[in-house]
Amino acid sequence: MVQPLFLRPVFKERIWGGTALREEYGYDIPNDQTGECWAISAHPNGPSIIENGPYAGMALDELWDKHPELFGHPKEEVFPLLTKILDANMDLSVQVHPEDSYAKVHENGDLGKTECWYILDCKEGADMIFGHNAKTKEELIEQINEGKWNELLRRVKIKPGDFFYVPSGTIHALCEGTLVLETQQSSDTTYRVYDYDRRDAEGNLRDLHLEKAIDVTTVPHQNTGVAPKVEERKYLTITTFVESEFFSVYKWDVRGKSTFSLPDQYLLLSVINGDGALIHDEERYPLKKGTHLIIPVGFGEFAIDGVCQLIVSHS
Ligand code: ZN
Repeated sequence: MVQPLFLRPVFKERIWGGTALREEYGYDIPNDQTGECWAISAHPNGPSIIENGPYAGMALDELWDKHPELFGHPKEEVFPLLTKILDANMDLSVQVHPEDSYAKVHENGDLGKTECWYILDCKEGADMIFGHNAKTKEELIEQINEGKWNELLRRVKIKPGDFFYVPSGTIHALCEGTLVLETQQSSDTTYRVYDYDRRDAEGNLRDLHLEKAIDVTTVPHQNTGVAPKVEERKYLTITTFVESEFFSVYKWDVRGKSTFSLPDQYLLLSVINGDGALIHDEERYPLKKGTHLIIPVGFGEFAIDGVCQLIVSHS
């Protein structure tokens, strides 16, 4: 019988990180500057470990290689997605990511990185950096070289529940006081454009990658506003945020027992609020805020009971 795959996250210390992952999600974080929870990951820099069932203790990248049937015998060589929760206790560096073809050549075969953000929480009046104002590549280079950051960078206001699609080539940065669930291509390639001239504990500036960043930045900026689609069922609201070539992302708002039967596609689930249970073949698996799992191919019909919100994605 096919079981759900519950996952143990991996945590990353970051100079901009904080303690929200412990306070909000109850995670046993390694220190008070924890910036990233790699919740559903098969990336070599931090793969999740399966917690239950016949594959308990196995890393997700190994499971992908050894049991392709759980993923519908995929054509992709590596697990294509990565789900993270980010605690931006301070501003993140301004950055941009390459697309697949550029990353393949310049980053040792890593994937490109298109990502998207669901704003879990943020402080009143929070904003983020999303895109730039340069009209030509020359203007982009000039403003970067002259450090005209206020003119160059676009700022947008954010609030909890907002969703942003961030294609590769988009200059972006999360700003102080933001908690985000990120769904992205499984990639760890970031080109840093500007880091507010911050120094680490040893007094060092972090590297910038201006040449590559200028190479991959889309000019002029393209607005990628998404219009979420909402579907109401009896005890369930499904919001479709995006259906792109890289991933589709949804929110499931469960208010009582709701049944799902899925096409031949594995699903990534993250519980972002509330609690409940996943019911499948007479088994009840508890779900609580901060639980992450994969529903494999061949799982068939299942139900979610309780009052909870989930971010759901597939490739
Ligand atoms: Zn990014």
